Amino acid sequence: MEEPNSLSFEECSNKKAVYPGSFDPLTFGHIDIVQRSLRYFQNLTILVAENRKKTPFLSIEERVDLLQKYFHGNPRIHVEVCTGLLVDFMKCNDIPVCIRGLRVLSDFENEFQMAITNKQIYPNFEVLFFMSNMQHANLSSSMVKEMIHFQGNIRVFVPDIVAEYLEKRR
Ligand code: ADP
Repeated sequence: MEEPNSLSFEECSNKKAVYPGSFDPLTFGHIDIVQRSLRYFQNLTILVAENRKKTPFLSIEERVDLLQKYFHGNPRIHVEVCTGLLVDFMKCNDIPVCIRGLRVLSDFENEFQMAITNKQIYPNFEVLFFMSNMQHANLSSSMVKEMIHFQGNIRVFVPDIVAEYLEKRR
């Protein structure tokens, strides 16, 4: 197999990274990963994708709109929509690193499979995992969707701008 070009930490930092996900909806867990990534990368593209294993609650347009509103004013953050494969987006935009978050052990299996597959089709692909903060380790968009359904208080899980939108939508 062709030897991939490996990037040193110095080469990766100050460069671009992509943070792909469904963000359906954006939660404090996602925000924490974004803020921590910005300590190491100059530019971060939040890439909104459809997860075919999950039933969507918000449309892609609604998710992008909320992300853009929340991160408005930060020139280091870009929000885009993924219309194809993640690795194709990364190749086209010359982004060497993908960021993901890890919460419970069950996240790992899926992430591991995705990482191996992406590396097989794009040898320069690298993924960096951020461990969830303890206070967000149980937080997922699916849990927020459950809370909305049962009219629970979502303000401890999502920023106000998202909560207001979801409460109206409810
Ligand atoms: P996907 O459907 O691609 O998993 P999500 O929006 O659910 O999209 O998550 C995007 C990424 O953010 C994933 O890597 C996920 O593990 C991570 N993530 C989501 N919530 C949290 C959280 N509370 N703490 C840490 N990482 C998280």
